[in-house]
Amino acid sequence: MHDFSGLMIEMEIHVNETIMKRGLTYYRGNRILDADIFPTHVHGVVNGKGDDYDTIVYLDQFEQSICTCPFNGYCKHIAALVFFLQDHKELRENETISFSAEISSFSKDDLVQMVQTLGEKNSFIRQAVLDYIKEKP
Ligand SMILES: [Zn+2]
Repeated sequence: MHDFSGLMIEMEIHVNETIMKRGLTYYRGNRILDADIFPTHVHGVVNGKGDDYDTIVYLDQFEQSICTCPFNGYCKHIAALVFFLQDHKELRENETISFSAEISSFSKDDLVQMVQTLGEKNSFIRQAVLDYIKEKP
C-alpha cells in the first residue's frame, strides 16, 4: 500500500497556490475519471475543459510529473490527481478505479437503488436522469 503523503509535501513545494486550488476544485468536481496505480507512478485520466487529459504523477520524483494538457508546467490536473490520491490511500498497486468498471459490477437492482438514492439526494442528478430517459430513443 502506498502512503501518498509525501506527494502532498512535494506538491506544496512545486505547485503554486492558485493551481493547487483549481486542482482541489477539479478533484471535488469528480473530474478524476480513472486512476491506475503503478509501482513508480500513478496514471490518471482527468476531465478537463472540452477534453480529457492523461496525467502522470511520479510517486518518488514529483518533478517528473506530466500532463497532456496545453498548460506549461505543473497544472491543475496534476494537482487534482494528488488530491485524489490523498483521499484514496487504500489503493493498491495495479488497482484501477474506473467509473465504467465500477458501474458494470452492479446488478440491475443495485443500479436502480443507486439511481434512486442519488436522485433523492441531488436534484441535478434527478433532472439529469429524467433528461436522459426523455432523450433516449
Ligand atoms: Zn494538465
